[in-house]
Amino acid sequence: MLVTGPRGTKDILPEASGNWQYIEQVIRDICRLYLYKEIRTPVFEHTELFLRGIGETTDIVEKEMYTFTDRGERSLTLRPENTAAVVRSYLENKLYADTLLNKLFYIGPMFRYDRPQAGRYRQFHQFGVEALGSKGPAIDAEIIMLAVQLLRKLGLDDLTLYLNSVGCPQCRPIYREKLQDFLREKTSHLCSDCQSRFERNPMRVLDCKKEKCTEETQGAPHIVDCLCDECSTHFNHLKSLLTLAEVDFKLNPRLVRGLDYYTKTAFEIQYAPLGAQSAVCGGGRYDGLVAECGGQPTPGIGFAIGIERILLALEKQKLLPVFSNTIDVFVAPMGIDMQGIAFKLLCNLRENGITAEMDFMEKGIKWQMKQANKYSAKFVAIIGEEEAAQDKIMLKNMLTGVQELINIDEVQQKIELDVEA
Ligand code: AMP
Repeated sequence: MLVTGPRGTKDILPEASGNWQYIEQVIRDICRLYLYKEIRTPVFEHTELFLRGIGETTDIVEKEMYTFTDRGERSLTLRPENTAAVVRSYLENKLYADTLLNKLFYIGPMFRYDRPQAGRYRQFHQFGVEALGSKGPAIDAEIIMLAVQLLRKLGLDDLTLYLNSVGCPQCRPIYREKLQDFLREKTSHLCSDCQSRFERNPMRVLDCKKEKCTEETQGAPHIVDCLCDECSTHFNHLKSLLTLAEVDFKLNPRLVRGLDYYTKTAFEIQYAPLGAQSAVCGGGRYDGLVAECGGQPTPGIGFAIGIERILLALEKQKLLPVFSNTIDVFVAPMGIDMQGIAFKLLCNLRENGITAEMDFMEKGIKWQMKQANKYSAKFVAIIGEEEAAQDKIMLKNMLTGVQELINIDEVQQKIELDVEA
């Protein structure tokens, strides 16, 4: 019986990998423009890092992690997201010693035991950025601009940027109490998850996507009305910077990250045509996370974009580029005895940067000409016994149909001239 891939995983097949390379290239170009440098961390970490870095009361940690014990009895977890790992690496490698502000990005697979559906997988890929070191709102604005510019560059308009501030450990407890007062009488109407959130993490109740919970929490107090002076100034400044940069945003008081180390800015970018899985980007400030991971208190902000969702959106809008797979030369030996000469020519051409292919299936010339057409080859170099005896080949220009008998060592020059013309 055939062994299939695990549920919620997808193969990226050769016909699709060009799309991935395209998106990754646009990401790399933008990151170069904004001076964010790539960081590559392992796909698994000590489980404890995620317990501390994501929070034990989150859905990710409670229900979605791929955790296993290795042969050395260590508890390891496939990374469900990458902020905690970047912070771990930042501290372990003392990146803070080199510069006051570290601007980092990553692209890679993440793993969550999610319910698979269109746009939601168990192995998926994120592009994310993290800026560690600045507490001012300008870096928040830069990070948001980077996400917006990337999505625009890919051709996606119809984007909505939602913005909120979740306060800080000074003002949030006051809000938390207000929210609990509001929710107290409603708890019995909430879903079982939200009932347990009520005590442990009441702000997450606002985030619940269940219809009943959304209904019950209409009219809940807004955190932006409870912000301390510092958080409120930060939020106002960020909004004015985004306005200056002509980025539209909508305030969304339900956008929360209910943990102590998430502070101030929270944002999400949605692409409505994707329907149920319309969130393409989520991010926010985490001024308490570096200290939570054992470092000196250091402010930070970042976001993650789901690459599969971007691909779905680009497919839907027909925004993916068409890739040409044309080659310069197809080398066609007429018979197995000519294979050596053909192979030598093929190697020479490739060493000189010419895209070339030959027949590896040991077929006749008719089949080889069909192959050459399939590759849209500009030339076919036909190597017959008679020609080879005089160190010559027949070079056919597939566009004009003209055939020329030329010396084998002139093939490269001839093709280069023609390709340049
Ligand atoms: P998060 O780390 O949960 O804030 O997610 C950031 C982004 O990653 C989301 O906006 C999605 O685009 C993407 N994402 C999160 N979970 C999944 C998943 N299970 N499958 C595919 N994409 C995901």
